[in-house]
Amino acid sequence: MSVLVVGTTALDSIRTPKAENPRLLGGSASHASVAASFFAPVKLVGVVGGDFPKRYVSLYERHGIDLEGLQHVKDGKTFHWSGEYEVNMNNRQTLNTELGVIEHYKPTLPKGYERSPYVLLANISPDLQLHVLDQMKKPKFIAADSMDLWLNIALDDVMKLLKRVDLFVLNDSEAHQLTETDNVMKAIKRIHKMGPRFVIVKKGEHGAVYSGPDGMFITPAFPLANVVDPTGAGDSFVGGLMGYLASCKGPFHRHLRRAIVHGTVTGSFCCEGFGLKRTTKITRGDIDRRVKEFDAMVKC
Ligand code: AMP
Repeated sequence: MSVLVVGTTALDSIRTPKAENPRLLGGSASHASVAASFFAPVKLVGVVGGDFPKRYVSLYERHGIDLEGLQHVKDGKTFHWSGEYEVNMNNRQTLNTELGVIEHYKPTLPKGYERSPYVLLANISPDLQLHVLDQMKKPKFIAADSMDLWLNIALDDVMKLLKRVDLFVLNDSEAHQLTETDNVMKAIKRIHKMGPRFVIVKKGEHGAVYSGPDGMFITPAFPLANVVDPTGAGDSFVGGLMGYLASCKGPFHRHLRRAIVHGTVTGSFCCEGFGLKRTTKITRGDIDRRVKEFDAMVKC
């Protein structure tokens, strides 16, 4: 089954203590779509400007991503984000965000997209996420991601969104911001009350905590000796998770825990290169091998 992904399709300029890479392919939807594409067909909904390199379109195509929902605005500029990491790569600062063509973006879904069974509302403004959701016809499973910015400037829309999604994925600092508690257990309880039956709190290099009707599930991150650039790891996590779910037969809730493990492993590859450089060089076989290593590390 297919996954519809909406989010940012961006150019990212990323600085780490060791290197600097300007105008890489980035954006929440790019990372999530490529990650999901290892498992299931993906339909991408996004917008780019006339400055968006053709080689990035070819990259999506190589991953079999359906691009009918990718709008090109020839006389506009692609969303551009620049960020800088500290020596401790858990800490990042946004240096600049240029909205470009995203500022006036209100997508109408291409025919057939509205029946996608799996919907991933990757990080983008919540009113856009709601706008896409309004066009969907009876999706089987809806997941959403967000960020601190939207909790600060569009909390009402985030709250509307929470009432309509099955799974909400956020990192621990966002969970604390949203629920005003530092305790992850209390935070999860409060987020469930806001709407979603399934909640995942990501804790960066310390893994993730899942909570759903079937109880809780805790997963470590895959340990990496060399983190090059964590940009997009969260998007790759949820993209891999949704792609894996869409590839499974039977009720999705039976597969959620394995989906989280596959998302974790897919996200780990993302951290091993700048932007999408590493993720675009791996195969499903590489993911499966690392999942086996992961399984061996957590078995007791
Ligand atoms: P992550 O590292 O998972 O937080 O995601 C990083 C990606 O988020 C980058 O590729 C950025 O292009 C994208 N991004 C940065 N700011 C925003 C924003 N305000 N809305 C949506 N996506 C963003």
